[in-house]
Amino acid sequence: MRAAQLTEPGIVEVVDAPTPEPDGSTVIRMEMLGLCGTDLSIVAGKIPVDTPRVMGHEGIGVVEVAGPTGKFGVGQRVLINPGLFCDHCYLCHRGYPNLCPNGGLLGRDLDGLFADYAAVDESQLLAVPDGVSSEATGVIQVLGTCVHAVSKAPISPGDTAVVVGLGVSGQLIAQLLAAQGARVIGITRSEWKRELALQHGATATAAPDEAAAVVADLTDGKGSEVVFEAVGTVETFSRAVELAGSAATVVFFGTTAGSGGELPYYQLYYKELTLRNPRGATMADYERAIALVADGIISGVPLVSSRFSLDQIDQALAATQDSSTLKVLMELE
Ligand SMILES: [Zn+2]
Ligand SMILES: [Zn+2]
Repeated sequence: MRAAQLTEPGIVEVVDAPTPEPDGSTVIRMEMLGLCGTDLSIVAGKIPVDTPRVMGHEGIGVVEVAGPTGKFGVGQRVLINPGLFCDHCYLCHRGYPNLCPNGGLLGRDLDGLFADYAAVDESQLLAVPDGVSSEATGVIQVLGTCVHAVSKAPISPGDTAVVVGLGVSGQLIAQLLAAQGARVIGITRSEWKRELALQHGATATAAPDEAAAVVADLTDGKGSEVVFEAVGTVETFSRAVELAGSAATVVFFGTTAGSGGELPYYQLYYKELTLRNPRGATMADYERAIALVADGIISGVPLVSSRFSLDQIDQALAATQDSSTLKVLMELE
């Protein structure tokens, strides 16, 4: 079978690899693969991994060889939770399998999903209804992480929620917040991403330099109850803090590995802000994500920018790097 592996930082090759043996796992024939900034960071060496490493943590496929309990039969379409967890440590028992110290991420700590087949433990699989279009399946994994993030902020109908950054995650977070009855204000430089957010539930949008005025106008000067940062730079973290009203919750969804830059620390105190830093997702988050797409509450298809084959992984990575795109997928034939 084909497998896209990182041979050394900066070099990804599609190689001929042995098809995985079941060996107690479920063998999945991969159908739709998603790329994101994490893959770019792994290729660039910003997230160090052992090489060679088969890449990929976002994927949907069909069961080719059923696992030991037969819970997912041959032909069942499944989403793979790429976040491994042990289910017997202190954090797993406390309800934080996404933080399991014995876990890891497929495509980073273990060989991943960018291949014709993957062998995965049954406990990592979730059934995806046939009614979900193949294109829409491509956003379900990232939607799971957005569901996890939105669960960290208290939102009541009528609250104002600002989303800083309207990439794939920001768009999905905006849709989730709108579905909960929030008045959503989306912030990005990109005019067409603002337009897309307005088509899918946002109440208002603004470019970064007019964000403060728009938020003040729509909240009678109070600022918003919730702010989500979905970019991952110190500059946008700071903007999120500045747009928050007093007693607001600020959710840093974007991640940055850097330690430079400064946050407006006094505002954290003065407004008595609550900061949340969600990481990954749980099986329950993924279950909810699948249901939201299956029920049509979240629209994944408009977020798909381009589709490539596995052999075109270099082009797919380049498209992911391009800030004028949204979701980039690879479809296996
Ligand atoms: Zn991802
Ligand atoms: Zn654990």
